[in-house]
Amino acid sequence: MENMERIPIPTPFGVGRVNCYVFTGNGLTVLDPGPATQEAYEELTGALARLGYRIADIERVLITHPHMDHFGLAQRLVEESGAAVLAHEDAVSHLSDPIGYFEREQEYFRPFLISMGMPTEIVETVLELPEPYTEYQAPVTVTREVTAGDGIDVGVDLACVSTPGHAPGSLCYLAAADDVIFTGDHVLPDITPNPLLTLAPGSDNERTRSLPTYLESLRQVLDIDVTVGYGGHGDPIPALQERARATIAHHHDRKERIADLVADSEPTTAYQIMKDMFPDLPATEMFPGMSEVIGHLDLLEDENQVVHSETDGIIKYERNANQHK
Ligand SMILES: [Zn+2]
Ligand SMILES: [Zn+2]
Repeated sequence: MENMERIPIPTPFGVGRVNCYVFTGNGLTVLDPGPATQEAYEELTGALARLGYRIADIERVLITHPHMDHFGLAQRLVEESGAAVLAHEDAVSHLSDPIGYFEREQEYFRPFLISMGMPTEIVETVLELPEPYTEYQAPVTVTREVTAGDGIDVGVDLACVSTPGHAPGSLCYLAAADDVIFTGDHVLPDITPNPLLTLAPGSDNERTRSLPTYLESLRQVLDIDVTVGYGGHGDPIPALQERARATIAHHHDRKERIADLVADSEPTTAYQIMKDMFPDLPATEMFPGMSEVIGHLDLLEDENQVVHSETDGIIKYERNANQHK
């Protein structure tokens, strides 16, 4: 692709580097600048200098989704350049106040995780784990909210594709003329993106149905006539559709496994199912683990394979005895 560079930016997270994409065809555009660290800032500055640009030249910053490894640095770039910031409207509340958003999440998920069978002291540990990381993001004001179908001229025409699931407001940017799509974390080459639970857009007392939403967004990608994916982490994805299909198949297998676990036990909690599936999960992986299990239970409930009931504030799942196969 002409007038486009992929710049892997360092992050302090286990995922490793994040891909920042730079477009030079219509002024300077940066897609996902990286986290708010001095190291990320310096690497981006150096990479732009090699292309003949400075941070102050940036005209627009595009954000794929409101995760700090992707957007954290955006506000610093805006302060130096006055760049416009483009993101999906469902990402705005997170982007404009990441700390407040994190606190509202903690408040919602404390009783929620307890109701899912997680012991109270583990809930506290799990909810406090992300706190030290909050410094890797700065609040950023979105100056142009974009939605599905909107076009952005970055030298080539990018069309916005709305792909919620991994995060609310997740966007892919399709460069149809070049047969490529920038996927953020929606489709990745070697990792299965986690359908993380979070607050439903516009709500403080309702969660997302992340996995069902994510799978719908993946099927949407299958309907797009495009070959190559440029993801938020790792190398380009040479056969995007194949990768999307493999990700769908992975989730299908896991759903069947969880259906079996539920069928083989007494009424059980999401936490117990997670322990059965991943016995040695460290605390750092428990929120993603719960997100995944609850996502599959959402799917199984949608299919009437599983039902839940609540006793003394604890929600238990069991096989639907009235299920017709
Ligand atoms: Zn992400
Ligand atoms: Zn990421």
